[in-house]
Amino acid sequence: MLSAKVLRRAFATAHAGGNKVAFIGLGNMGLPMSSNLMKAGYTVTGFDIDASRRKMASEAGIKTTESIKDAVADADWIVTSLPKTEHVESVLFQEGGLFECARKGTYIMDTSTISPPKSASFNAEATKHDLVFLDTPVSGGTPGAIAGTLTFMVGGEKEQFEHIMPVMKGMGKNFYHCGKPGSGEVAKLTNNLTFAIEMIGTAEGIALGEKLGIDAKVLTDIISTSTGRCFSLTGYHPKPGIMESARSSHNYTGGFMTCLVKKDLSLAIEAANSAGALSDFSQKAIDYYSDMERKGAGNKDFSFVY
Ligand code: NAD
Repeated sequence: MLSAKVLRRAFATAHAGGNKVAFIGLGNMGLPMSSNLMKAGYTVTGFDIDASRRKMASEAGIKTTESIKDAVADADWIVTSLPKTEHVESVLFQEGGLFECARKGTYIMDTSTISPPKSASFNAEATKHDLVFLDTPVSGGTPGAIAGTLTFMVGGEKEQFEHIMPVMKGMGKNFYHCGKPGSGEVAKLTNNLTFAIEMIGTAEGIALGEKLGIDAKVLTDIISTSTGRCFSLTGYHPKPGIMESARSSHNYTGGFMTCLVKKDLSLAIEAANSAGALSDFSQKAIDYYSDMERKGAGNKDFSFVY
């Protein structure tokens, strides 16, 4: 084990300037994010547990491997985009996982939305393996991932935040240092609970207007220039056919799955309970999304709530 001082110096220069990225998790977010890293000049090697996602990545020109070990063998940076806390935990700790196979001094940037205290514990554990693990969750959805305009929220030391800036710039446009390890996840959860509740409000308003005879497109134009303006309406419209790029216009596929929104609301409620904060509307929202999941829509984009 290296001393903390030696480790800090090693981390500051680790694989400095290297352009090889291992990308673990090539899903709805991971695939466009890794494609953008390639466009930005990085050499990307991807791994996903699902062979069909590896195939899609290969078709997009990304080199894929059959194991995490092979993906990270000579990586300068590792980026993960995985569904839930338990998937990140398994990718880190499993035999042949990141803690065992990544090169010493490598930075692991976890863009997944997971539990803040768990993420902080992964940060602490990583140092025992002479690695850096940072929570770097993202916002902007699949449109932001495709356009390379994601917002990054980072927990960790300021100098570590600055060190990963070039890689983040390959995938995003806005970058925030939130504070200690896990605080990027806290920021992300507060954003997502707002968005999840806002989507239900948007769907409720549009549906009510339509039932009372106002055309949904006209109503959308009105609210878009009025005080009800919000991203669910102007960037992620829940009614099919109003916005071509919205997931609603693509049979609610390929966006932010209801099961993942539900996971984020659960994490937000857990965090609220630990902080003694209110979470009444998060609780109401989770009931809506749980009901959708029960009815078989867990894999549909959450705007299906409309
Ligand atoms: P997704 O389910 O489409 O992608 C996750 C990928 O991880 C899948 O392809 C899955 O096969 C893979 N995976 C699961 N376990 C694995 C393992 N052990 N090893 C390798 N790969 C494994 O989900 P997504 O929508 O791309 O979201 C990824 C993360 O980003 C989630 O934490 C989500 O909450 C967050 N997020 C999603 C959005 C969005 O709009 N979709 C926006 C911001 C953040």
